[in-house]
Amino acid sequence: MQTINNIFECKFCQDLLNKCILLPCRETICEKHTLSNQKINCPSCRNEHEVPKKGFPLNKIVNLFIEVKLYELYFGEAYQIVKHSCLKLDQTFESYFKMIEKPSEFPIQFFEQMVQAIDLKREEIKLENESYAKNLVIELFDSEHDIIKESKNEKFESVYSYLEIAKIKSDDDKIR
Ligand SMILES: [Zn+2]
Ligand SMILES: [Zn+2]
Repeated sequence: MQTINNIFECKFCQDLLNKCILLPCRETICEKHTLSNQKINCPSCRNEHEVPKKGFPLNKIVNLFIEVKLYELYFGEAYQIVKHSCLKLDQTFESYFKMIEKPSEFPIQFFEQMVQAIDLKREEIKLENESYAKNLVIELFDSEHDIIKESKNEKFESVYSYLEIAKIKSDDDKIR
């Protein structure tokens, strides 16, 4: 079965095609295999081809394609992601190796880090809860304040009854 890897593999050296030429039989191989010979046996069809004085024509499209793909491989986005991950992994290993160098410190440092992480999380949750509670108190106070204010308002009763009517109406709508 043809795969991307063996399409771009030189049948001569089984390596990735490198500056490739086109043989008269349409097989593509690296130019280097034809340079110091007058004749070349095609590794695919076994036919013998005479090497022209100017050499065989370059397979431009394949050469360009490989160039672009190699560039992507070495400098493309995927490469950057892999490079970044490798660097992070390297840093992690380095920090562990440092700990392992002093085995007595390893568990202590490890547990200290864990305790610090837990303390931090607890502080975070505490702060979150505090601000939530504070907001709740403010909201409660505000609504209480509003109710007191509203109840003193003469219009409160009429507004209230209007809301009640609206509620009954919408309940009726639901029944229908
Ligand atoms: Zn080759
Ligand atoms: Zn051939």
